[in-house]
This record gives sequence, structure tokens and C-alpha cells, in this order.
Amino acid sequence: MRINAITNWAYGVTVLLTGLSGVAFILSTNSAIEERQAAEQHLVLDTLGEDLALGAEERSDAARLYVMRGDLRHLERFHGKEEEERAHEAAIRNVREFGASPKELAALQEVEREAEALDKIEVAAIVAYQKGDQAAAQQMLFGPEHDRLQTALLETVVRFRELTKARTGAVLEQAKERSDWFGLAARTMLAITAALFLGVLYFVLKRRVAMPLVRMTGIVTRLAKQDYEVEVPLDRRRDEIGEMNEAIHIFRTNGLERDRLDAERRLDQQTKDLILQMMHRLQACQIQEELAEVVARFAPQIFPNLAGHLYVLNDNRTSLTLVGTWLDPQHSADTFPSSACWGLRRGRPHVSNGGQSDIACQHLDESDVAGLCVPLTAQGDTIGLLYFEERSPEQPAVETSRLYLELIAENIGLAVANLQLREKLTNLAVRDALTGLLNRRCLDEALNKQLRERAGKPLVCLMIDIDHFKRFNDEFGHDAGDVVMQYVAQIMLDAAGELGTTYRFGGEEFTMLLPDMSEAAGFEFAERLRDKIGTTPLSHRGRILGSVSVSIGIASSPREGTVATLLTRADAALLDAKARGRNMTVCSSGLVVT
Ligand code: GH3
Ligand code: MG
Ligand code: MG
Repeated sequence: MRINAITNWAYGVTVLLTGLSGVAFILSTNSAIEERQAAEQHLVLDTLGEDLALGAEERSDAARLYVMRGDLRHLERFHGKEEEERAHEAAIRNVREFGASPKELAALQEVEREAEALDKIEVAAIVAYQKGDQAAAQQMLFGPEHDRLQTALLETVVRFRELTKARTGAVLEQAKERSDWFGLAARTMLAITAALFLGVLYFVLKRRVAMPLVRMTGIVTRLAKQDYEVEVPLDRRRDEIGEMNEAIHIFRTNGLERDRLDAERRLDQQTKDLILQMMHRLQACQIQEELAEVVARFAPQIFPNLAGHLYVLNDNRTSLTLVGTWLDPQHSADTFPSSACWGLRRGRPHVSNGGQSDIACQHLDESDVAGLCVPLTAQGDTIGLLYFEERSPEQPAVETSRLYLELIAENIGLAVANLQLREKLTNLAVRDALTGLLNRRCLDEALNKQLRERAGKPLVCLMIDIDHFKRFNDEFGHDAGDVVMQYVAQIMLDAAGELGTTYRFGGEEFTMLLPDMSEAAGFEFAERLRDKIGTTPLSHRGRILGSVSVSIGIASSPREGTVATLLTRADAALLDAKARGRNMTVCSSGLVVT
């Protein structure tokens, strides 16, 4: 049952009980009045009886004294009592109004009759005395008839008083009982009303005040300890407790909001810190692989819900190649033409989600998972692409993290561009522009490194010189000479592969270092190389250039000599090969094969 209903019921019952107790009080008061009236009645009737007896007695006494002494004052007293007797008679006539019973009335009438009889005797005695017959008068007043009447009158008065006493006593008793009963009922009802009132008051105070206060104290204590998980039940009461509850509710909501904002701020700060860390590492990267690894390590920490690929545009800017990946994206191809990406085409970030809201990139499959392509640009040039893909549609991150994604893309783009620029500069410093081979300076460094780090380990050196190269220049022009040079350089690069490194020593002369190879193996390698170069006819701009031959001088260390003399020995062997007629390999150790 609701508290309102309980209080309403209690109020109704209290009002009813109060009304009933009021009625009982009124009835009790009425009974008390009845009681008082009965007492008064008894007193009046009793006094009347007594007065009748006394009056008769006094008249008799006055008559007797007059007859005995002849004193007129006694006669006057006798007549004076007549007045009183008439008043008593009048009172007797009114006795009915006092509710006297028939028996009482009969007794009173008897008293009246006896008093009249006595009166007659006494009047007759006085008359006789006044006529001088004192003896007759005394005989009448002291005679047996007078005595009998006087005694009878007194007895009748006593009986009358007893009857009155019995009747009024019963009425008195009844009225008293009724008054007591109603008084008790009124007090009992008042007591019940008071108990009910106190009970309801206790119940209401406990349920409506004490319990909510205790509950709110617990809630406030937990809120004070910043435990915003505590449940604050919604209490829509329109009183102070309700207002307090609402204030606590607002406080908790504010606390939760502040916590949420704090968490957001912390997460944001954490993201910024990670981005900063990544930027620092990107700036320190020396090669593209390192850069890709840095991105692949940091991107999942910054955006745990986004998988991704890092693509780089190839040199002729037609296709993209995957260089880094994280969290295993599922929907984008590893390589694809640059035209397959709307982001690259438009030069700005592009969201694809199965063509739902925008056109989808062609390098993605049909999935409706949101994928974001952010072109990597540096100084207006597009150099690659950063691709992000949501790992679960329930945690959309592409749009919410868009700003940071673009910031990261901008920095990665700059880092890639820096690396590419650096690579270009390095190449310019260490590579020969025509053949792309490492230059003489690199050869010197490599030999020094061999001395420093690989002292005592096998190394074969090939000095290679194109035979009669001047003829190509002279007959077909300098460009044709360049082509021949590039052709020979490429074959050497292919042949060396992972086995060794090729350098342009100068002019049409090349050096090849082959570590961990014996001189005999070096010789066989040189022979295969010479054979490969010499067996391919060359042409340039439609003109047959003919075949190219090379002379090769070989030197090795450490068995045949030190690294310091390696070049000199190989060069000497080359000169020997030239002197012997060219297109041959000569080992500095003396092995000669034509
Ligand atoms: P040999 O068989 O004795 O080595 O005769 P050769 O003609 O190859 O040697 P020589 O030293 O007489 O001539 C080398 C020529 O190579 C001279 C130079 O003009 C030419 N040359 C050097 N560097 C380049 C280059 O980068 N491009 C072109 N086209 N020619 C070059
Ligand atoms: Mg030459
Ligand atoms: Mg030469």
C-alpha cells in the first residue's frame, strides 16, 4: 500500500475516532448532568420530608406550650407555622414535576392527611383552652390520639424519605455508570487515536524521512569518495527529501560527466603522447623499412580499433606498394594502381563503406566496413597512402579519430618524403649517375671496412675494363657509349646479386668485391660474367653496336696478399689481360686463361 493511501486512511480513522470520542464525551457529560439532577431531586424531596416532619413537630410543641403556659408568643408561633405548612403543601403539589413516584406521592398525601388530622386536634385544643377548658385542651394535646398521629406522621415521613432515597439512588447509580462508561469509551478512543497518530507518524517519519535519509547518507558517502557507480534511485517526491534526492542525482550525473570528460581528456592526452613519440621516431628513421615498422608499432596503440596499411607510390607514380601493415586489415589489396583510390585521385581523405554514403575505392572489396584512405603528401607531391579500416562496426573510429588520422598521415607523408629525399641525396653522393653503381669512394670505404671488421676473411676483387670502348664512342657517338656502359653495369649487377658489390672504378673500368669467395671460385665467376657480357649483341637507335668484351683482373686476400694491395694486384692482373690480347681473365696469382 502506498504511503499516501496509508496516511489518508490513518487521517480518516483518526477523524472518525476523534468524532466518536467527542460524542462519547458529550454523552458522558449528559449522564453526569442526569446524575447531578437526581442528586438535587433527592436533596429537595428529602429536605421536604424532613421539613414536613419538623414543621408538624414544632406546631405540636407550640400548641402544647400555649396550652400549658398560656403564653401568646407560643400561639403566634403556632399560627406562624401555618404559613410554612402551606408552603409545604404547595411544594408537595409540585413534587410530580420532580419525578416523584406514585408511592412517594401516596406517602406524601398520607403525611399531609396525618398533618391535617394533627392540626385539627391542635386547633380544637387551642379553642378549648381559650374557652377556659385547660384540662380538655391538655387531654387532647397529650392524649393517645395525638401521639398516634404524631408517630404515624413521623413514620410516614421516614418511609417517604426512604422511597425517595431508593428511587433517586438507583437513577443516580445508572447515570453514574453511564457517565463512567461513556467517559471510559471517550478516553479509550482518544488513546487509540493518539496511538494511531503516533504510529502513523512513526511509520511516515521512518519510511519518508529516516530511511531515505539513511539511504542518501550512504549514497553521499560513496559519492564523496568519487564512487559514481552508486545507484541513486529516482524519487519524485515534492518535498525537501525529494529535492535533496534530486540534488544528489544531479551531483552524481555531474560527477559521471566529469569522470567521462577526464577519461576522454586522459585518452586524448595519451593519444597525443603516442603521436608525439611516433613523430620523434619517424624523424629518426633512416630507411623506409624502419619507418614502416614504427608506423606498424604505434598505429595500433593510438587507434586500437583501426587496422591499417602503409602504401608507397612507386617511382613512376603509377602503382602503390604495401610497405607496412598492422592489425591485419581484410579489405584492401596489397598492390593496386593509384587510379584505384579515390583518395589519391582527389588528393584528400576518402571514406569508403561499400558505397553506402560515398563511392567506394576500387582497391577495396565489397565490404561495408568503413575504410579511410588518406593520401600521403609532401610539398604538394603525393608519395603514398595511409589506409585505415574499422575492426568492428560496433566501435566506429574512422570519423571520431579523423583529425588525428589526418595529422598522422601528414607526418608520415613528410617522413617518407624526407627518407626518399635523403635516399636520393645519398645515391647522388655514393652512386654513379650513369650506371647507378656505387662510386670509387664507396669502394675505398668497403675496403677499409674489410680491414677493420673482416680482417683475415676471404675477399676476391675483380677489376673489369671494357675492351676498345673508345671505338663505341668514336663510331656510334657518346650516347651509344653510355648505353654500352649501362648494359655492362646491369649485367654485372645481376651477376653479383647477393654475392658481392659492384663499383664504377672510373671511366669504363669497374670493380667487383666478392666476400667469402676463393680465388678459384672468383675466377669461375669472372669467366661466366665475361661470357655473359660478350654473348649479347647490342644495338642503339636502330644501329647494331656489335658485341662487347671485357678484360678482367683478379686478386684475392688474405692468402695471395693483403687487402691493402688488393686493388693494385687486381689492376696489374687486368693490365696483364689487356697486354695478352684482351677479352680474358687473369689472376694476379699467376693463373692465366685465354
Ligand atoms: P682498351 O681496350 O685499351 O681499354 O681501350 P679503350 O678504348 O677501352 O681505352 P681508352 O682508355 O683508350 O679509352 C677509354 C675511353 O672511354 C675514353 C673516354 O672518352 C671514354 N669514356 C670514359 N668515360 C666515359 C663515359 O662515361 N661515357 C662515354 N661514352 N665514354 C667514356
Ligand atoms: Mg677499355
Ligand atoms: Mg680503360
